[in-house]
Amino acid sequence: MSKTTRDGRKLKARTEAVHGGTVRTPFGETSEAMFLTSGYVYETMEAAERRFKNEEPGFIYSRFSNPTVRMFEERMIALEGAGDARATATGMAAVTAAMLCYLKAGDHVLSSRALFGSCRYIVEELLPRFGVTSTLVDGRDIDAWKKAVRPNTRMFFLETPSNPTLEIIDIKAVAEIAHQAGAKLVVDNVFATPTLQRPMELGADVVVYSATKHIDGQGRCLGGIVLADQAFIADHLANFLRQTGPSLSPFNAWVMLKSLETLDLRVREHARGADAVARFLETHKGIGRVFYPGLASHPQHNLAMSQMDAGGNIVAFEVAGGKEGAFRFANALQVIKISNNLGDAKSLITHPATTTHQRLTPEARAELGIGEGLLRLSVGLEDAGDLIEDIERALA
Ligand SMILES: *Cc1c(COP(=O)(O)O)cnc(C)c1O
Repeated sequence: MSKTTRDGRKLKARTEAVHGGTVRTPFGETSEAMFLTSGYVYETMEAAERRFKNEEPGFIYSRFSNPTVRMFEERMIALEGAGDARATATGMAAVTAAMLCYLKAGDHVLSSRALFGSCRYIVEELLPRFGVTSTLVDGRDIDAWKKAVRPNTRMFFLETPSNPTLEIIDIKAVAEIAHQAGAKLVVDNVFATPTLQRPMELGADVVVYSATKHIDGQGRCLGGIVLADQAFIADHLANFLRQTGPSLSPFNAWVMLKSLETLDLRVREHARGADAVARFLETHKGIGRVFYPGLASHPQHNLAMSQMDAGGNIVAFEVAGGKEGAFRFANALQVIKISNNLGDAKSLITHPATTTHQRLTPEARAELGIGEGLLRLSVGLEDAGDLIEDIERALA
C-alpha cells in the first residue's frame, strides 16, 4: 500500500482524498495516470509463471487488477479507514458481490426493509432462489433485529439514511447484535457518503458504495466499491470478483479518483444546500411532510446527528394532490431536473412510487411511507436561493 507521507503520518480524510493511493510512474506526473490496458507484458515466460504463482508482485489482467483501479481503491481505503477494498462496475455489483462472495445455500440474511429498489430485489428475490433465506425488518426498531436473528444468520444488511424516506438506523446497535450472532454487518453508505458517516468506526464489517452517486458527483460514470478488513477481501471477495468479473473500467476508476479530490468540499456544500431547501419546504403550506435528517422535526434527528456530520443532500417531501399533484409540480420545475439519479452537481427530482420503487406492492410502499404525493429531491451544487425560487414558482 502506498502511503501519503514518507513517515506514514495519519492524515485527515480530506487530505487523503487528494493524495491517498497515488502511485507515480517514472515520468513523475502530478495528476494520476490512466492505465487504459486490459493486460500486461512480461519480460520472460519465467516472469509470467512467477506472477501467476504469486511469487512476485505485479499486474496480470485488468479483470482483477489494474494500476488506476488500484489507486482508486487505495484512496477509498485511506478515506474509510478500511483494511482493503475492491472496486466494481456499479454499486449493484458491489452489493451483490459483498453478499454472494460470503453466503451459501442454507444461510440467512437479515436486512432493513427500507432499501434502494435493486438492493431489496437481491435480498428478497435473488438470494432465496439460491437457498439463502432472508428477513426484512423495520431497521429503526432495534428489538426487531434481535428477534429476527436465526442460528444460520450470517449477514446483516442495511442502508442509512434510507432511500427515499431517510429513515435512520443505529449502526452501532445493529453491529452489536450482528456480532453477537456471529454475523457480518454490511452497510450501504451511499446516501451518507464517506464524508458524512464512517460506518466502520461504528462497527460495520463491510461498507459498500455506488460510486456513481456522490463519488463521481457529476453524473458521468457508473462504479462501485466494497471495503472491508483484509481477511474478508482476501478470503472471500477477491477471488469471487476475479472469477466472476464485474470489474470497474480503468477509465471510470480514473474519473472517480479525480472526483474524490473534491468529495469533501462538494458533499458539505450539497448538505448546506439541502438544509436550506428542507427548511424552506417545512414552512411552506403547500407541502405536507418533509423528510430530512438535518431537521429537528425528523423523528430520529438526534440519532442522525450522532452518527452523521450533517443531514446529507437528499430531501423527500409530500405535495398535495397525490400522483397528479406531484407530477404537475415536478413538470413545472425549471432548474431542478427530473431524473432518478442522485448525488449529482445538478439538482434532480424523482417520484419514487412510479420509478425507483414501482416494483413494490402498494402495501410495501405504504409500509415505507412512499405515498403517491412523495417526491425525492437530490440537492445539487446550484445556489440554494435559485432552487428555493424554482420550487416556490412550481408550487404556485
Ligand atoms: C444507486 C444506489 C445503488 C446502486 O448503485 P448503481 O451504481 O446504480 O448500481 C445502491 N444503493 C444505493 C443506496 C443507491 O443509491
